[in-house]
Amino acid sequence: MSIETLPETSTGNVYFRCFAGCEGKHSIYDVIYRCPKCNSLLEVHHDREPLKSRNAYKWQQLFDSRASTTNWPYGSGVWGMREWVVPDLLDENVVSMCEGNTNLFWANRLGKQLGLDDLWIKLCGNSHTGSFKDLGMTVLVSVVKQMMTMKDNPVRAVACASTGDTSAALAAYAAYAGIPAVIFLPAGKVSTAQLIQPVSNGAHVLALDTDFDGCMKIVQEVTQDQSIYLANSMNSLRIEGQKTVGIEICRQFDWELPDWIIIPVGNLGNISALHKGFRLMMDLGLIHRMPRLVAAQAAQADPFYKAFKNGFKEKVSVTAGETLANAIRIGDPVSYEKAVSAVKETDGIVEQATEQELAAACAKADLTGMFACPHTGVALAVLEKLVASGQIKKSDRAVVISTAHGLKFTDFKVGYHESKLDGVNSEHANPPTYLPATTAAVKEEISKRLGL
Ligand SMILES: *Cc1c(COP(=O)(O)O)cnc(C)c1O
Ligand SMILES: [Zn+2]
Repeated sequence: MSIETLPETSTGNVYFRCFAGCEGKHSIYDVIYRCPKCNSLLEVHHDREPLKSRNAYKWQQLFDSRASTTNWPYGSGVWGMREWVVPDLLDENVVSMCEGNTNLFWANRLGKQLGLDDLWIKLCGNSHTGSFKDLGMTVLVSVVKQMMTMKDNPVRAVACASTGDTSAALAAYAAYAGIPAVIFLPAGKVSTAQLIQPVSNGAHVLALDTDFDGCMKIVQEVTQDQSIYLANSMNSLRIEGQKTVGIEICRQFDWELPDWIIIPVGNLGNISALHKGFRLMMDLGLIHRMPRLVAAQAAQADPFYKAFKNGFKEKVSVTAGETLANAIRIGDPVSYEKAVSAVKETDGIVEQATEQELAAACAKADLTGMFACPHTGVALAVLEKLVASGQIKKSDRAVVISTAHGLKFTDFKVGYHESKLDGVNSEHANPPTYLPATTAAVKEEISKRLGL
């Protein structure tokens, strides 16, 4: 398809529509984030009929055949499902760094310790910028690149507010595509790695004296002007890329569903995405039930947990407190309504974990060979609680979504093993022992430690 034949105003079979149900379709190449009638979030909708021209088995075969191919861009876990993501995106506008297709880590030893026979960790942090945010950003930046080729397009740059990982992903994909990026970070509230990533990728990094929710307000005002495109997860294009993770997990189990998926949540985009992927699979006959989704929150930033406890009668906002899980330090989650549907339609659960619990969960996982980021620690701690309470059974297959790579959070790891984290008792600390360089001293230490 050439650029001339692209539908510039028509919406085709894939379009934005109001999540709250208002009439109307909007092109995904328009600069629009909310419903013009009711201000709700939009969602990208794929008409189901054209997709049903291929049966469930044929879809599985197609996606299986593309996994990890070098036939660009199909080796990407996202673009390998291109027909379900953004079918009319031109090859030359795909901005991909081969994201997705991350490994499912069989946490056999950790599972046994927790009392589970079948525990898996989906390592979404094994990705270009070290977090699952790459999955959404490849879609958003690709659509922006295509937009920028269209006539009368106003977009000149992309921007986001971030708790760290969104900005790392946006900066990398924008740099790859040659599009300017403006990043709003809460000063002093992101890790060193998270700060240096957008700096290295040449983004315009603005560190503001506020928290994430404060940055979010400002970026929304700045992007009122259509020349700067908003890349936060209220932009539902990102959800389209992130939704592939659930489909990918299913493919990795030879198209069988796990019983539980436990995911750390902040702004609630990723859990909404997970659900949206399963919804599509269900409608196309690839699956016939939903896995149960568990949203895991840090107790220091737990508005969704509080809302769940009140039966989702009303949305709760809090002022998010300090947490080691800084990427989910969010008090006023933007994708609240979508996440409520995700929990309700999957018979899901929302649970929380304290700083002590998340730090201990990371340390225990690391002792079985992982290198868990604090957000993954929140999910692992919640898993532990649900196994202990009997809600997750020994024989259930559970998958924990590990959202980022532990190497982005070495400050946290070092603090833990030096027993220097506030409010955390480092019961599994394993600091190095400093010794004189003599064989005698070394032998004595080894015999003390290993009884040899
Ligand atoms: C963004 C992020 C989350 C939270 O995802 P939401 O879509 O905001 O709920 C969790 N963990 C990490 C590491 C993240 O970067
Ligand atoms: Zn609406």
